[in-house]
Amino acid sequence: MTMSEPFSLSIKSVVDRLNSNTNSGITESKVKERIKEYGKNEIAAKLPKKTIKILIDQCNDPIILILLVAAGLTFVFNDDLPETIAIITVVLITVIIGFIMELQGIRSLEALRQMGFTESTVLRNGKIKTVKSSVLVPGDILLMEVGDVVSADARLITVENLAIKEASLTGESRAIYKHVNVLPRATILSDRKNMVFKGTTVEQGSAKAIVVATGKNTQLGKIQEMGSTIEEERTPLEKKISALSKRLIYLTLFFAILIIFTGYLRDLDMRLIIETAVALAVAAIPEGLPVIATMALARGMMKLSKRNVIIKKMEAVETLGATNIICTDKTGTLTEDKMQVHTLIFEGEVLSEIHNKDNVYFENIEKSKALNVIIMNSVLCNNTILNAKDMKGDSVELALIQFVKKLHINPKEIKENNPEELEIPFNTSSKLMATLNVTEKGFTVYVKGAFESVINLCNTILKDNKSQVFKNKKEWTNRVNNLASQGLRVLAFAYKELDEKPEKNKVLSQLTFIGVIGFLDPAREDVKATIKVYKEAGIKVVMMTGDHLRTAKKIAQEIGLLPQNSVSSSILHGQDLQFETEPNPTMVTNILNASVFARVTPEQKLKLVSLYQVNDNVVGMFGDGINDIPALHKADIGIAMGIRGTQAAREAADVILKNDKFTAMELAIKQGRAIFDHIRQFVVYLLSCNLAEVVSVGLAALLALPAPLLPLQILFLNLITDIFPALALGMGKGEVDIMKRPPGKANEPIMSAKRWKSTIIFGLCITTAVIGITAYAHFVLQLTSKIINNMAFYTLVLAQLLNVFNMAESRVSFFNNEILKNPWIWSSIVISLLITVGIYYIPPVSNALFLTNLSTEQIGWVIVFAFGSLVLSQIFKRLGFTF
Ligand code: ATP
Repeated sequence: MTMSEPFSLSIKSVVDRLNSNTNSGITESKVKERIKEYGKNEIAAKLPKKTIKILIDQCNDPIILILLVAAGLTFVFNDDLPETIAIITVVLITVIIGFIMELQGIRSLEALRQMGFTESTVLRNGKIKTVKSSVLVPGDILLMEVGDVVSADARLITVENLAIKEASLTGESRAIYKHVNVLPRATILSDRKNMVFKGTTVEQGSAKAIVVATGKNTQLGKIQEMGSTIEEERTPLEKKISALSKRLIYLTLFFAILIIFTGYLRDLDMRLIIETAVALAVAAIPEGLPVIATMALARGMMKLSKRNVIIKKMEAVETLGATNIICTDKTGTLTEDKMQVHTLIFEGEVLSEIHNKDNVYFENIEKSKALNVIIMNSVLCNNTILNAKDMKGDSVELALIQFVKKLHINPKEIKENNPEELEIPFNTSSKLMATLNVTEKGFTVYVKGAFESVINLCNTILKDNKSQVFKNKKEWTNRVNNLASQGLRVLAFAYKELDEKPEKNKVLSQLTFIGVIGFLDPAREDVKATIKVYKEAGIKVVMMTGDHLRTAKKIAQEIGLLPQNSVSSSILHGQDLQFETEPNPTMVTNILNASVFARVTPEQKLKLVSLYQVNDNVVGMFGDGINDIPALHKADIGIAMGIRGTQAAREAADVILKNDKFTAMELAIKQGRAIFDHIRQFVVYLLSCNLAEVVSVGLAALLALPAPLLPLQILFLNLITDIFPALALGMGKGEVDIMKRPPGKANEPIMSAKRWKSTIIFGLCITTAVIGITAYAHFVLQLTSKIINNMAFYTLVLAQLLNVFNMAESRVSFFNNEILKNPWIWSSIVISLLITVGIYYIPPVSNALFLTNLSTEQIGWVIVFAFGSLVLSQIFKRLGFTF
């Protein structure tokens, strides 16, 4: 039942071959059979990494290779089989932990991807249903409207003004108008105008089509199959971390060579030299770092998804933390998007507060021609779908239908009695919509749109039930400004009656102005508080709207985006933005200072986003329509609404707010900042611990002190005791003041100069404790080297665990920081301590780690030195030497 050229067949033969029905679709049981036969309608956009590949990648890590070399050296030079086996066991454990964590990370990402799935509207069992696009099958009858992403290849059955953007498939950027006629077999892909293809978007109109190919069999599937070796790109963070690891490897090599060289000069035992060099290699490398970072990102994403924020790409989390400008539209994001007709103004008549009345009764309804024409205009120049149970459509258009219903007039009847001949659809540049209808009088053109756009087309006005010369345009401009200043969205209405059908290019001229309607769309209650939070967090909110300047200003004042007595420089009008030529410096300054842009087009929004980016800003952008897609792509973080946004916008966005709440973005930014903070914390934590190990081993060797640490002891520290606190750091909530400080810079490295300095100071404080106890036990207490080694080892364990408390920012008090309040930290310390004590009682492990019994006094010294390192670090911190 595969269909090679459905475009060359009649609709009937396609439908018959697929055993479907254009009015009722297929049954659910047939769907099940066909999913079995054709598979799900999915294309792996990026092939998920194979399990085996994840495993191999773990072994491919330079860290693992160094450990293997260390094991080899130990075996060859030291002939130490137990230690070699121990190192190899550790390597295996590292590989397995890394493997499990990465697999889990990938699983949770996969789960997130599932949440961002697209949906399609289909006819099944005679009913209209919304289903996941992954379960579309050949034979399904697909219903599409503006903003939908086409989810399968389908042959068109009916079209209404359908235009499709196929750039993703053919590269053609113009929308292609479609029809349903049969085409010759030789028609090339881009000319198959009776078909729609997976991955393209509905730019205009609506259609019904029958699915002919799904998943891999679609045109998109075939293209992707050809080049499907594209693999998941590494996130910038992963790249930064691996660059950091590389640096550490060089550092290790340097130290190892230094130790071997000085050992050789001092004519030391080769066995000791190799052992020390291996210990160093092991010490320097933060084994858990990449995995912990990925886990922290994945966990943050999962946490947000539970709160209705879906982050589609891992790298977005990092960018979120650095976002410093948020561009938003007005309707629906800052306002409720529950439009209601509030005021009607005709020449000589004002009808206001209509929204408060359930039933509207106008005494002169019969007599007022203006009112009658505006009713016809409201219904006919309107794309609301009337026959569905809940009416669907644009919010102003829905409001118009509701208004007409309040007058006890049936809009459906008006539509049926005045069929549409032509439609000039609304677009954001012309800012108006027009229809040509066959009416009692012959033909009537109805136009509605932005006041400035409509008034330019009118030379007459309906006054005293007659068309008269339109002389008082200025007066009308003032009336509209007044309405807009109340925060109302204003639409102007015009019409003309004709005996004959006009040519298309003559439709929009010599119109008669009827009047205007002001729509009430209240600002969202919760937005005000969020705007305040953003202000404190150093994030600028910018409103970019297609609406009237005064409407925008009023709403901006209501939500606290502009002060009540705002100066005009905070608001710019679209017509003042000249992007055709390079904007001059004054213009750039004006743009950067403004918070509201009114009457801007989607192209201007895109230009504004670019301008912000060129000026070193990280931009988040809200968008919901087809026209917003370029700007959503361009912005550093594209944000779409889950309910109101079109599928195409959701597809283009990096973040989807499932509950459509502007305020939800606050959570995402907070989480982004917290994650980045945590990653920095555990990078500093792990590096300072490792540095302490390296310097302790190195110094002890150079000073010819008894070896404080053995390779296996260090591996134990790095893999067991360090990992838990590091993981726990990633579980924190974020500092209390996280939204009270400015955002980080774009591309900020994980480690700033200050953080490197802090790492060194913390590392050296631990080293001081370890070398201190070694020297004290050696010179003062004069203990055996095994006991000295154990005291040094336990001091290191404890000092490293306590080091976690140094990771809080110095601006927060020691007793009130997020780390002290994080229960995970306390649990991780307890677990690490229990393991450290526990292994002493497992003879093979305790032997391999060279452990022995310590007296209470010796344990006492361990505690004193370990806490000493914490006190020392805190002194440096309070003196301002560290972060
Ligand atoms: P917002 O930021 O409030 O969401 P927007 O950027 O979506 O606004 P547009 O949709 O571009 O604004 O609308 C711009 C203007 O076009 C509106 O102020 C209104 O005057 C007019 N307009 C909006 N919708 C329609 C429509 N369905 N028919 C005719 N005119 C419309």
